[in-house]
Amino acid sequence: MRTIGLIGGMSWESTAVYYRRLNEQVRDRLGGLHSADILMRSVDFDAIVVLQKQGHWDEASRILVGIARNLEHGGAGCVLICTNTMHKLADEVQQAVSIPLLHIADVTAAAIDAEGLKRPQLLATRYTMEQDFYVARLRERFGLDPIIPDADDRTVIHDIIFDELCQGIVRDESRKLYLDIIARGKEQGADSVILGCTEICLLVGPEHVDLPVFDSTLLHADAAIEFSMMNQTPHPRAA
Ligand code: GLU
Repeated sequence: MRTIGLIGGMSWESTAVYYRRLNEQVRDRLGGLHSADILMRSVDFDAIVVLQKQGHWDEASRILVGIARNLEHGGAGCVLICTNTMHKLADEVQQAVSIPLLHIADVTAAAIDAEGLKRPQLLATRYTMEQDFYVARLRERFGLDPIIPDADDRTVIHDIIFDELCQGIVRDESRKLYLDIIARGKEQGADSVILGCTEICLLVGPEHVDLPVFDSTLLHADAAIEFSMMNQTPHPRAA
């Protein structure tokens, strides 16, 4: 197994989902007491949110680049930024290390493409829904035609992420608001939904939605397992 490098803590509520998923995947494949080989740095999210709000992306980039280099020096074979939003800085991070950065938009878009779907509704932070670093990548690299919620709905989605989900608060009323937004996306022609923020899976899952759901958190973690376990023979007892 190759060591999976995680830049986590944004927020830790979703990094915990990654941690569980990575370990469960290895246990399912290898059985017994096997678990994932992980090197993680978890940041103080409050400091990152301040930089996001002030638009100090250069400083945020300096922090993520430093962490990625440390992960590489520590023996990580790949690096994951465990948030969609901070993939705004993915190019800088990738350029700073020689190990591959597994890009969350790429693995999510590839899964949608593999199902022959084209018009995913994107639920994410305002940064991810409104700036070009994510949506343009879906369009240009994968030929997708994402549907972005309108301004009012973007505010609702963004505020629930930061005011609730990142703080471990999961409310039925907020799920209802998300499901109403998804229903509007379907009316506009969405053929699928991207949970394009790593905390949304705490609130909404495929069981709530009558469209195919692509959860960026789980897809990202699963891509890391594929990378880590390439050429690994499954344990005969792990069926
Ligand atoms: N985890 C969230 C995401 O996937 C938001 C937190 C952040 O701003 O990094 O975008």
